[in-house]
Amino acid sequence: MSYKIQLNQQTFHTERIFCIGRNYVQHIEELQNELPAAPVIFMKPASCLVKSGQSIPYPTHGQEMHHEAEIVVLIGKSGKAKQVQEARTFIAGLSIGIDFTLRDVQRQLKEKGLPWERAKAFDHSAPIGDFIPLSGTIDLTNLDIRCWVNEDLRQEGNSAQMIYRIETLIVELSHIWQLNAGDLIYTGTPAGVSAVKIGDVIRVENSQIGRFEWKITA
Ligand code: ZN
Repeated sequence: MSYKIQLNQQTFHTERIFCIGRNYVQHIEELQNELPAAPVIFMKPASCLVKSGQSIPYPTHGQEMHHEAEIVVLIGKSGKAKQVQEARTFIAGLSIGIDFTLRDVQRQLKEKGLPWERAKAFDHSAPIGDFIPLSGTIDLTNLDIRCWVNEDLRQEGNSAQMIYRIETLIVELSHIWQLNAGDLIYTGTPAGVSAVKIGDVIRVENSQIGRFEWKITA
């Protein structure tokens, strides 16, 4: 089942979510990861997406669920971007989302060299806000992002701090996949990730895109 995104007069059907790991230096440092020689890419199915205002049931297979607030790109056409100069033409819109991660589960998987799906691709792991169209005035290298848990500001960053810029990510993904209209890219999280618990309200904001929130429930 695909996830429907309404933007202007168009309806997009999302089936895939590409996620980028380790794209902000300070976040790499806080998790003591290595600086990547190429973008770290993983995927979530579209069934992980949760519209803002809905609740997020806390998963039962882990104890330490971290928020990772991220700028999200909506791909608007099919094909491969060969060069960064054309990458922007593949973008239909922007939103903000959360890449929820069970850090305790991920730690165990990493130690054993196993895939991350249990820690990253569980149901409700990808809250997503509404989308705005990519207008000519939006600077992809200057998108602010903030994340609150209850009234506590936990993350504050800007796409200017990305190791791999949004256009570069689109070209990198195009080396491996033909992009399709409706694809989403979660572009990585700035520093400040931390655990949420049942009862918390989590809110993400970008000054151009808007502000969205979800409640964590049992
Ligand atoms: Zn992430």
